[in-house]
Amino acid sequence: MPRFLAKLSKRLTSLLPPELELRELWYLLSSRNHSLLLNRRRATMIVNRVRLFAFLFAVLTPLWSVIDFIVFDSPLWIYLAIIRVLASVAFFGLFFAYQAPGRLLDAYRSMALLFTVPTVFYIASHLLISDQSLDNISASLATGYAFLPFVLMAGLALFPLTLKENALVSAVIIFAQGLVGVMNWSTLNWPSFMGGFWLLILISAVVALASLSQLAFMIALVRQVMRDPLTGAITRGSGEELLGFFWSRSSRRGCSLSMAFFDLDHFKQINDNYGHEAGDQVLRNFAKFIADSKRATDVLLRWGGEEFLLLMPDTSLADAKVMLKRLQEKGFGVRPDGNPLTASIGLAERQHDNLFSVQDLLELADQRMYEAKEQGRNRIITVS
Ligand code: GH3
Ligand code: MG
Ligand code: MG
Repeated sequence: MPRFLAKLSKRLTSLLPPELELRELWYLLSSRNHSLLLNRRRATMIVNRVRLFAFLFAVLTPLWSVIDFIVFDSPLWIYLAIIRVLASVAFFGLFFAYQAPGRLLDAYRSMALLFTVPTVFYIASHLLISDQSLDNISASLATGYAFLPFVLMAGLALFPLTLKENALVSAVIIFAQGLVGVMNWSTLNWPSFMGGFWLLILISAVVALASLSQLAFMIALVRQVMRDPLTGAITRGSGEELLGFFWSRSSRRGCSLSMAFFDLDHFKQINDNYGHEAGDQVLRNFAKFIADSKRATDVLLRWGGEEFLLLMPDTSLADAKVMLKRLQEKGFGVRPDGNPLTASIGLAERQHDNLFSVQDLLELADQRMYEAKEQGRNRIITVS
């Protein structure tokens, strides 16, 4: 028996998405520990999917009025047409008003609106139709309105969502379906209603899997784009995005933003004398040393070959300088010949240096790094 259980658990673990690292499996459950860049990518994708969905519904919802006109008597089809046009206007509003914001809260809101419009439409049309005594064709068409929760649930598969987010939205849809059942309590065809209810729950499970596997691919992709494979530091492209985000946040809140530009001294000699692999190892050690010493909110970027940037949000120039001096005293590692590895560092800060753009901050830190080289390397420069 234990052997069987061990085999079962092994087979089950082999189902976990292989593209994810072990700690990333937690990211599938909730968005609590997601990185800033993952949040931004996900928010953009969710909003764009919402807009796609909204556009489709905006066009299709009023078109169905033609069928309502053929099948239902007046004034029922007119009432239905009015709520269809209202729903379509709301969908177009969503399509035009939302831009990819990069903020998860906006993405959630757009999704909530996307699901609210058809839910309200569904409940309103249901109230209208269930009031009427309908002939055979109309009655069968009226049941068509009951497909809406299934369409909504299936639509959820378009979004890269965590298990928690998925459960929340599914619960709302299932609740709406239950509410309609309660509202029609007296006339309800129980076996068919319970069949539909069960089906909705089954679909929600399949949809959750689709949604989670989208999220898994996204997590893996963002990691690959974000991390430099040699040093584990953030890549330049993703770093520029983060830097833009830090800059606007610090100007909005009036906080400090410090940037240290590191260039390793005489690095080429290591490659020339000991080979590229030895050079790579020095880079790896350097990045690990900084990563282990920095604060959790600081971000290390690999800007070029042996050039690194350390972004320090909410850190004044004076504090940043103290921190860099401490690192320098500890030493940035050893060269293959046993001598200490040194770096030339340019330090700049948004408020202290009275800067107006990200470009200014980068240029000043870079310029100060060159001054450190000119003054004899292995030093930190904070004034030009
Ligand atoms: P300085 O003190 O003036 O900065 O001299 P330096 O030798 O550090 O600077 P230089 O710009 O002349 O050389 C940088 C070297 O870094 C050249 C390049 O081959 C090497 N390099 C860039 N990327 C990598 C890498 O990923 N691995 C290795 N091993 N070397 C790299
Ligand atoms: Mg260089
Ligand atoms: Mg160098």
